[in-house]
Amino acid sequence: MSVAGHPDRLLLLGGGHSHALTLLDWVRRPLASAGLEIVLLSPNRYSLYSGLVPAWMAGRIPQEALQIDLAALCRAAGARLLIGEAQALDPAQQRLQLSSGEWLGYRLLSVNTGSTLRAPEHAGPCLSLRPLARLLQDWPLFLHAWQQGSGPMGLDAVGGGAAGVEVLLAALQRLRRLRPDRPVQARLFSASERLLMGHPVGAARRAEAALRRAGVQLMLGRRWQPVDSPAQHGLLWAAGAQPPEWLARSGLALSAEGYLAVEATLQSRSQATVFAAGDSAALAPALDKSGVRAVRMASTLAHNLRAAWRGEALQVHRPQSAVLALLALPDGSAIASHARWGSAQGRWVGRWKDALDHAFMNRFTPEALASLASQGAS
Ligand SMILES: Cc1cc2nc3c(=O)[nH]c(=O)nc-3n(C[C@H](O)[C@H](O)[C@H](O)COP(=O)(O)OP(=O)(O)OC[C@H]3O[C@@H](n4cnc5c(N)ncnc54)[C@H](O)[C@@H]3O)c2cc1C
Repeated sequence: MSVAGHPDRLLLLGGGHSHALTLLDWVRRPLASAGLEIVLLSPNRYSLYSGLVPAWMAGRIPQEALQIDLAALCRAAGARLLIGEAQALDPAQQRLQLSSGEWLGYRLLSVNTGSTLRAPEHAGPCLSLRPLARLLQDWPLFLHAWQQGSGPMGLDAVGGGAAGVEVLLAALQRLRRLRPDRPVQARLFSASERLLMGHPVGAARRAEAALRRAGVQLMLGRRWQPVDSPAQHGLLWAAGAQPPEWLARSGLALSAEGYLAVEATLQSRSQATVFAAGDSAALAPALDKSGVRAVRMASTLAHNLRAAWRGEALQVHRPQSAVLALLALPDGSAIASHARWGSAQGRWVGRWKDALDHAFMNRFTPEALASLASQGAS
């Protein structure tokens, strides 16, 4: 392997689900190697767990409950957290450019920067579901303005996927609780004829029923246009997940959508020194983009980065043909959706979702990290 960039640096770009779990693996089984420097580059100290965003927006949990402290995780894994953002990649020279303009060399790079959304210009209040760090700033401001204002408000959500449905329901619940005297007239626009494309029809019907119960007017088969939402309407943008723009200029092999084309080993199809996981990675055949998929890729990624560093054989990632999605509803119940098993709904599904979400987050507490580290040391 050539070492043009930096002979001793393994660079993890983005603190998404896959890298958080990769680092956890290395807490338990340290990636000890002479001179090795592991660097995690992230715009923020905290990685945000999207599965709990609707619960936070509904006011059911505090912000801390959906944050993974990357500083503590890196410390435990023997890695260095570098706060910054990538804006360009030069794979031939094995280096990456930060938004500060500085270049960072690497011997091995792993990309886990997720997807992004590009919300349109809107004269009124606008909430975009990505980046999540921005949503965490914007939602409290939106709520503050709502509390101070008067009269009814229109709220237009764009995007009929699982995240759009969940977040709209959570937002409506919070807005109505805060100001029961102010009516909210909500609409959901979806370019497709039904909600939750890619999910079983039964799950879509359940989501539709939940939205109707919340008084949402469904605009299905209707591509949103700026003229649909006057400036006094709030806009909730949840449509068109895309890869970050800088990937397109990287010269790396990309999928038709612009994500990093990888082999079954999660190694770039065009550069052996680059790996990708989570939403960033485009396997063939293509997988749906979800946190569950990103989580599942982590064990292969952790193994293969270790193996690539040592010049050992790589493992193949064997994705499940379908994964479970759980959509939280305002009454504490949830919808379970699985392409092969169908759908179900109830408070028991809500409790199941809570248990899975909290089990995930509990893996990153200081106590859990200390316990993992002691297992590694023994
Ligand atoms: C509101 C909401 C709810 C969702 N709920 C679910 C759910 O319940 N179940 C499910 O399976 N999926 C869910 N999803 C989808 C899920 O969030 C994504 O598929 C998942 O986060 C992808 O994980 P990832 O590891 O690829 O990256 P992410 O978890 O998105 O993390 C990417 C990280 O990269 C960082 N980053 C981005 N750009 C740069 C850069 N240029 N330089 C450095 N760092 C960068 C970001 O700050 C971020 O921390 C939800 C999505 C949303 C928006």
